[in-house]
Amino acid sequence: MAVSAVHLESDAFLVCINHAMSTEKEEVMGLCIGEVVLNRVVHVHSVIILRRSDKRKDRVEISPEQLSAASTEAERLAEMTGRPMRVVGWYHSHPHITVWPSHVDVRTQAMYQMMDQGFVGLIFSCFIEDKNTKTGRMLYTCFQSTQKGSEYERVEIPVHVVPRDAISKMCLDSAVELPHILCQEEQDTYRKIHNLTHLDPITKIYNGSVFTKNLCSQMSAISGPLLQWLEDRLEQNKQSIGELQEEKERLLQELATV
Ligand code: ZN
Repeated sequence: MAVSAVHLESDAFLVCINHAMSTEKEEVMGLCIGEVVLNRVVHVHSVIILRRSDKRKDRVEISPEQLSAASTEAERLAEMTGRPMRVVGWYHSHPHITVWPSHVDVRTQAMYQMMDQGFVGLIFSCFIEDKNTKTGRMLYTCFQSTQKGSEYERVEIPVHVVPRDAISKMCLDSAVELPHILCQEEQDTYRKIHNLTHLDPITKIYNGSVFTKNLCSQMSAISGPLLQWLEDRLEQNKQSIGELQEEKERLLQELATV
């Protein structure tokens, strides 16, 4: 039976957006961790950012090893939170293209649904421009697949972003992991070309500067917003400490008058 709706918590949503905005050249991908509750509603509490083994513009794949590592992580989170957490779906980005799933996406989704009926797919379309206002836009959708004859079709699933006043520990860990993963991917690519012996010194210097440039653009796209996020959280924490301290003093005064 199809899922009736997806509730995506705002902190998990922010991690997805941050990840999707990290590159406009290739698609990025991750897995959603959460729980399926009554009425077949999927709650997404957190996401796991996946490292790409093969960077290609229009293709994303999850290896069985990654899926099993994600399940282990979900089990750990279930223990930590005391909730029945598991891998409930996957997400990927569509830079510069429509938000709707491709035929490959619909088929991939159908394959996941064979293993788990409640599995959902989220897509974030980014780096697209609104023709009227000339401003950047980000669109997202959630889907499942259904079989029509010998073909598969997409079924749109309503997705609601659920506001949260603070970022959870799970989401914060994923967000902090993102710059690490991106940096590793860049290093791997650079190492591969750097070890080619037939290259002349000028080409090597050029490759080195491309590597540095890529790291710098990642820093401004990812680490900047992340730092701002952490500063906001620090500010929020300071405020709650202040409020709690006031409350404590008020209670102490009350106690003294009793
Ligand atoms: Zn796609």
